[in-house]
Amino acid sequence: MQLYSTNNPNYKVDLKTAVLKSLAPDKGLYMPSKIDRLSDEFFKNLKNYSLSEIGFHVCANLFQDSIGAYDLWKIVNNALTFPAPVVKINDKISTLELFHGPSLAFKDFGARFMAQLMSHYNKDENKKLTILVATSGDTGGAVASGFYKTEGVEVIILYPKGKVSDIQEKQLTTLGENIYACEIEGTFDDCQALVKTAFLDDDLNDKYRLSSANSINIARLIPQSFYYFEAIKQVDNTKENIIAIPSGNFGNLTAGLLAKEMGLSIEKFIAATNENHIVPDYLSTGEYNPKPSIATISNAMDVGNPSNFVRMMELYNKDHKAVTKDISGYWTTDKHVLETIKRVYENNDYVLDPHGAIGFLACEEYIQNISKDKNYIFLETAHPCKFLDTVESVIDHKIDLPQRVKELLNKKKEATQLNKAFPSFKEYMLSR
Ligand SMILES: *Cc1c(COP(=O)(O)O)cnc(C)c1O
Repeated sequence: MQLYSTNNPNYKVDLKTAVLKSLAPDKGLYMPSKIDRLSDEFFKNLKNYSLSEIGFHVCANLFQDSIGAYDLWKIVNNALTFPAPVVKINDKISTLELFHGPSLAFKDFGARFMAQLMSHYNKDENKKLTILVATSGDTGGAVASGFYKTEGVEVIILYPKGKVSDIQEKQLTTLGENIYACEIEGTFDDCQALVKTAFLDDDLNDKYRLSSANSINIARLIPQSFYYFEAIKQVDNTKENIIAIPSGNFGNLTAGLLAKEMGLSIEKFIAATNENHIVPDYLSTGEYNPKPSIATISNAMDVGNPSNFVRMMELYNKDHKAVTKDISGYWTTDKHVLETIKRVYENNDYVLDPHGAIGFLACEEYIQNISKDKNYIFLETAHPCKFLDTVESVIDHKIDLPQRVKELLNKKKEATQLNKAFPSFKEYMLSR
């Protein structure tokens, strides 16, 4: 498999380089040079495939001979250890639940798959790989559990003291084994600055093989395409498919476009956002104007300059007309989101989280102008208990915590306390 940099189509690397480096030296994102259609045989058998089998076929198609069948099956099967069911909300709209993984959000798919690929590519090295990651909460949890007990890799997570939720902190600090947490007296930006400085430090690079678990790594995007096939496999295959995607950095939507490029039948994607509606604006005007982000209750989508927009443009050669043929935009406000969580709980006995609620609303709006019967599916990107206070305040009811969360809350936190100055972090790194 070959990948090119979005800043220079002539700069090409293999899959291993793209996975271990995340970003091209010119700061471009990596994109596959060739995305072939999957075979008719694959689509004929789709209904009978497990999620792991889907993942295997999609990767074999994209990676070509980069990874042998035996190793590829191991990677995919180790990464995909939880289901992605389609659940009916009402007679028209269903949701694809992506929150059954360890950190209760879809980011588990990407983090686990990236961990498996990195471990695969590091297996012939005699030095283990040390992943440094700064987190404001969510990504850290997915990365920590994704890399947990992964051979040849350790993870050091830096998080800002007092600025992550209880559940998030437990996800970062209770795993043990190859996962280490540093609680930094400072902000998320301070944590990120420490990580950046560490990558440039000679002494640390002598001692460690350092890498990052960057959100724009192609290894996080690829597995997100698997669950679009998984969704379509579960619905009526005589109808057209409309999929609404609550979006922030647009990784999920881009993964959906990859699935379509590989031949999956999706008539329309709805790019659904909160008040950070840069992409819906682009879709309606043709102009892309990044802005500072606005804080909302669907905070994982508070992004003012989505990192995967450039990948979306690559897939369409920046042809706005072609983009709008496949993608519609939708956006809404916090007030509307809260009303919707309440309404869907009362009418349909389903608890939406603030992100999924935006996907549901996007489907409802789209249906209004269409008379034909179609499959309307939105991605439920996180479990509602991750936004406990917001959700419980409107449904006036306690949410059941999943068993794995209850167990987590009883575990003991272990973290190294550090101040935000680089020398103290460096000393920790050199003495451990
Ligand atoms: C990360 C995240 C999103 C946004 O996904 P993108 O792929 O960045 O568009 C939406 N919802 C939740 C719960 C998330 O954690």
